[in-house]
Amino acid sequence: NTDVRESMYLVSEFAKTYFHNTLLNSDEGKAIGYSYFKERGFTNETIKKFGLGYSPETWDAFTKEALGKGYKLEFLESTGLTIAREDRPFDRFKSRVMFPIQSMSGRVLGFGGRILTNDKKSAKYLNSPESDIYHKSKVLYGIFQAKQSIAKLNNCYLVEGYTDVIQFNQAGIENVVASSGTALTPDQIRLINRLTKNVTVLFDGDAAGLRASIRGIDLILEEGMNVKVCTFPDGEDPDSFAKKTSYDELVLYLENNAKDFIQFKASLLMNEAKNDPIKKADLIRDMVVSISKIPDRIQREIYIQECSRIMDISEQVLLSTLAQLVQKDF
Ligand code: ATP
Ligand code: MN
Ligand code: MN
Ligand code: MN
Repeated sequence: NTDVRESMYLVSEFAKTYFHNTLLNSDEGKAIGYSYFKERGFTNETIKKFGLGYSPETWDAFTKEALGKGYKLEFLESTGLTIAREDRPFDRFKSRVMFPIQSMSGRVLGFGGRILTNDKKSAKYLNSPESDIYHKSKVLYGIFQAKQSIAKLNNCYLVEGYTDVIQFNQAGIENVVASSGTALTPDQIRLINRLTKNVTVLFDGDAAGLRASIRGIDLILEEGMNVKVCTFPDGEDPDSFAKKTSYDELVLYLENNAKDFIQFKASLLMNEAKNDPIKKADLIRDMVVSISKIPDRIQREIYIQECSRIMDISEQVLLSTLAQLVQKDF
């Protein structure tokens, strides 16, 4: 129902403004939220660009304010901003810095809220629940701020987290979006596909990041897009890496370390596979499976040639393996 959704958008927009003003103008927001963002190295301009905010500790500060302004409890609840209690509804987000999640056209769909401590007791990030306006598998964090740059540069960097997007923007790289913790979905990739055919995956330099990159590759190839992967040193993510490099160093690093998916898989697994024929065979098969996802036949052949060269195996064998896979799939 469009009326319902419209009301949900309005209350979400109000929440964004409320959290942002609380961050910048309240004593608590300044002392806790604003100083947290400063510590992470975010400038005022960045805070404004992404509409970052702070949700206070009081258990119903936001809900009270919204109800007082005439927003209906029904929509505060359906957006998940307020959790219903018969006697006293309360705020979902408490003592968290707030990241508004916007659609391609800039509408506020939901929020991610981060705790300020690094204690492991509560979840680091809390997100809005799924709702009629927020489908987490269909949104990409940062797409509103990134879309022009993605189209202009004809490339999109794909990162994992909110702060990776923000730190890159601050470093001067704007064509970047985040899957925000969900495993990458076809809908998210199609969103990028409207703007460019070229994706560079920049996931965290840890085991989880590598696994996610590998899963992402085949999905991106299946959409007929070109994928590169650039990894970061162990323990670094795009945020931490960008924070300690200059713009020039960052651009150079990305240029020098972005590999196509064949090179990426080879560099990841070759050491292990080099002296082990069975592992090497598995790696080659895995590469051919990825190649089989590419809809365009000529591109498939080009990657077969590259695979043959890098893995030192005949194109003939690769092509017949590919033929079996493609037959099964199409
Ligand atoms: P930070 O730098 O603020 O510590 P991060 O972005 O590096 O956070 P990661 O642990 O690398 O955090 O996770 C990547 C992304 O996954 C986060 O930005 C967030 O969108 C999502 N995420 C992480 N932890 C959670 C959680 N507990 N619940 C929901 N989403 C999460
Ligand atoms: Mn991580
Ligand atoms: Mn991270
Ligand atoms: Mn991080």
